[in-house]
Amino acid sequence: MPRVYIAAETQRTVIERAYNCCEYCQSRADYATVSFAVEHIVPISRGDTSDLSNLALSCSGCNGHKYNKTEGSDPTDGIPAPFFNPRQQKWQDHFCWNEDYTHIIGVTPTGRATVEALRLNRPGLVNMRQVLYGIGKHPPDRPEA
Ligand SMILES: [Zn+2]
Repeated sequence: MPRVYIAAETQRTVIERAYNCCEYCQSRADYATVSFAVEHIVPISRGDTSDLSNLALSCSGCNGHKYNKTEGSDPTDGIPAPFFNPRQQKWQDHFCWNEDYTHIIGVTPTGRATVEALRLNRPGLVNMRQVLYGIGKHPPDRPEA
């Protein structure tokens, strides 16, 4: 996919709006070893724009698994479901944490399809959540989205 230029100021706005966390898996950019991306929720290739309403902060893993897709399937019934859209939906409406905050649980078809397709419980993420929880840095402390 060709790279699309997004102005530095727009990127800063997206990063601040996301409290420097991946808007899908909630991982923190300040504890990541790979740069996060300002991604298009609906890809340019599918006709959307680089407007702030279509941009989200994503870690490298979520961005790579999402690629140019906008939907997956709910693993409970195989029915297609759109991915979580951080600009139109609240994370808490579609996901919750398990009791030790290491795993994200999808609580709607959209949440479950997103957990599955973007692999929001990748082993490295789960390990990092355990470590960060132990030092009081996880889950991210931020206002309700
Ligand atoms: Zn992520």
